[in-house]
Amino acid sequence: MKNMNDRHMDIRKISLADLDERLTEIDFNEDDRNIVRKAVYIDRVPAFNEIQELTPAQKSILSDIFSLQYNPADSLLKSGDGSYRLTLELSDSARAETVIIPEWENGLLKKCAISISSQIGCFFGCSFCATGQLGFHRNLTTGELLDQFHVANEVVSNELNTVPTHLYFMGMGEPLHNYRALSDALSIMKDPDFEGLPPSAITISTVGLYRQIQMLTRDHPEVRLAVSIHSADQKIRERIMPVSARLGLKHIREALRAYNRATGHPVTIQYLLLRGINDSTEQAETLISYLRGIHSEITLIMYNEIESSNNSRPNLEVLNQFKDILIQAGLKVDVRWCYGEDIQSGCGQLQPPVFNDRVHFSMRHPSP
Ligand code: SF4
Repeated sequence: MKNMNDRHMDIRKISLADLDERLTEIDFNEDDRNIVRKAVYIDRVPAFNEIQELTPAQKSILSDIFSLQYNPADSLLKSGDGSYRLTLELSDSARAETVIIPEWENGLLKKCAISISSQIGCFFGCSFCATGQLGFHRNLTTGELLDQFHVANEVVSNELNTVPTHLYFMGMGEPLHNYRALSDALSIMKDPDFEGLPPSAITISTVGLYRQIQMLTRDHPEVRLAVSIHSADQKIRERIMPVSARLGLKHIREALRAYNRATGHPVTIQYLLLRGINDSTEQAETLISYLRGIHSEITLIMYNEIESSNNSRPNLEVLNQFKDILIQAGLKVDVRWCYGEDIQSGCGQLQPPVFNDRVHFSMRHPSP
């Protein structure tokens, strides 16, 4: 176990399994361990000595061994389209980006989604994605994942006077590449005492890490899965997403079929349209063949142009033609119009300075 002997290690930086083991070593019984876990992840006590159910001696031992801190909001920026970009400052001065997307219909809020980041930077370097240009810096911890949700929840309450309806792991990074922290965060979110969303309102987005899709299917079958395919032609997909060279479409397909069988849920197929690369009639036909036998729903995404990429966005006529071909084949298709382009929080645009180069936006809601 990493850093097991460190004094004052951040209690929310270690995995739930490691925390359980460490607490067992210092003679906390199962009830005590559950109390600690609930206190730091669900009740968010400010200090160990405020955990009422523990004895003074236990509180003192916890304070001797661990530290406890929550990550505050650093800034909040509002887009002209009503979405928000929230930045959390982390203990090493890295920053985690969270996006809040309210959707209105006839003046009424019909949906309010939070999209959280899972890593600082990303390992996979997709050609259309600003985050990918950063390279990989580190995984976010379970505490940092949950803090994004918690602080975004406060923003939704303060700014919109409502609660989130959906949570997407679609911000910076590849969530399944940070499986341990993701899985622990989902376990906490599924706890009946966690005042959050039902697991069916949580979606994990991935480039198609098929082994981790299998793990997610086994460990958290309640949550929804979205896979970025972007082309069902292996060669073109490799051009768009270099990681595809190691993630054969065939293996992804098998994992998706297994997910369908085990969960009964459709999988969302994300398809980012790039002009002249994957937006042709042939590419639509290839996608149709690939999805035969998979229970899926397709989300077509219009590309957000970024400086560091030569890709460009197809026109509306091409989008509609591509969509119509899929619909005529009996597929269910949605189009996702990106939010927050003016604050660089649209799909694939998240690219904050990684380390301490602060103050980009005005902070409106400091976290407690
Ligand atoms: S699209 Fe996702 S997986 Fe690809 S580089 Fe961006 S963050 Fe990473």
